[in-house]
Amino acid sequence: MTCDGAIRCASAVLSSSLDSASRHAKGPHEQGPRITRPRPRHSATPSGGMSSAASRPRGARAPPPSGYDRQVSTLIKQVRVFDGVDVLDADCVLVQGDRIVKLGRDLSAPAGCVVVDGAGGMLLPGFIDAHVHTPDQGTRDEGISALRQALQLGVTTMLCMGCRYPDFVAHLKALQQPDLADLRSAGIAASVEGSHPTQLFDYYPTLNGVEDVAPFVHTRVSEGSDYLKIVIEDSSVIGKSTPFLPPEVSAAVTAKAHSHGLLVVAHAQSRRFVAQAIESGVDGLAHQYVDQPLTPEFARFLKSAGVFVVMTLAVYHSHEGVELANDPRVRPHIDSRWMDILCSSVGGQEQFQEYGLAAVRPLRDAGVPILAGSDANNPGTTYGASLHHELDLLVRGGLTRTEALTAATAAPAKHFRLPDRGRIAPGLRADLILVEGDPTVDIDATKSIARVWRSGVAGRGAAPAAGGDVLIQRALDVGVSIPP
Ligand SMILES: [Zn+2]
Repeated sequence: MTCDGAIRCASAVLSSSLDSASRHAKGPHEQGPRITRPRPRHSATPSGGMSSAASRPRGARAPPPSGYDRQVSTLIKQVRVFDGVDVLDADCVLVQGDRIVKLGRDLSAPAGCVVVDGAGGMLLPGFIDAHVHTPDQGTRDEGISALRQALQLGVTTMLCMGCRYPDFVAHLKALQQPDLADLRSAGIAASVEGSHPTQLFDYYPTLNGVEDVAPFVHTRVSEGSDYLKIVIEDSSVIGKSTPFLPPEVSAAVTAKAHSHGLLVVAHAQSRRFVAQAIESGVDGLAHQYVDQPLTPEFARFLKSAGVFVVMTLAVYHSHEGVELANDPRVRPHIDSRWMDILCSSVGGQEQFQEYGLAAVRPLRDAGVPILAGSDANNPGTTYGASLHHELDLLVRGGLTRTEALTAATAAPAKHFRLPDRGRIAPGLRADLILVEGDPTVDIDATKSIARVWRSGVAGRGAAPAAGGDVLIQRALDVGVSIPP
């Protein structure tokens, strides 16, 4: 199929009546009512100022988190090891400092090594949520809450797909604490006045034409954007009509970003705009399209274009967020400030749900890389927890459990150019999750988290979680010993 063929296909406009459903929050790309947002109120970072992450060259190794000790080693034994792609013939993983140094069977513990008996659970790479939004109120507590909650629930890296305050995000990126998820961000997304997400803010930088492209991209680079996001959206999927980024501008932004070495992802929820994004040369899609069913033919077109797709099924199944909120393995780790959002839902999503789930199998069969992304913090989602929801939905849509786990580990690491994580292998960051049970047999087991390590430091599980339930406590009872 050609792009022209794709563009010619009729775009079915969904009849979701989000505005009329007053008891519901707005749709996945309309985060609540328009509000005047204060400038972020943050203090200088503990590590010497918020500019450090922004000024660090992209791809440069992040400084180790506080709490990191090069001399400390940890042997995790009696585990099954999922390395991001396969289950390995190994039952031990040795960590030294912030790195994985050895895998194998019956490894012996070096002197002074912390030994963690995994009691037959599974060790996985820390999860990467490939589509979140950092809290946009811009308060330090809020940002830290989001990062902490994510890590507690096994998400060691969050990829922000658009924010309002890049300086605030730079501040969060610089924190580098073992109890907080690592963060990457697109910063401010490229859009036009009147299009998404400008309706959410009193002021949002936009492009008026190709003449604005070079300064726009240059500013994003100087702010520390790790990749760029373009928004091609006329809001027809929610029954509205707004301006949208014209093809010549989406192509120019993509080319300019590529010239700066930035990856480009596109928000496009209609098939015609996905086709425009592909024509523009983007590297990936921040959603699959939901205005009509995704056909096997279009899936092969996406494969031939070499793009990846972040599915964001969880945000389309917002009515299921309340189940997460009531899961005793998850609930104790949800900050009360996010609970109402997780328990809220969006009306009129039935067609998005149907088309979203039905898109998984043709994309998989065509060989299109599928990445797990929750679109937290939209209604029905929240940080960390909703990545588990996304995994469940990917399996319901047709991925094997192992493929779903890859979509949250090795695949996002590869496609977002994070070669130091997403796998369990010697030399990589020791971002690890220990779970009770085997998620390659039952994907629900990802929620039964016993421990989370970020860069070799236990960010969860070193002490029983406050208010933790019986299942988590039992998992924590696997035991820690420090040999002489
Ligand atoms: Zn989003």
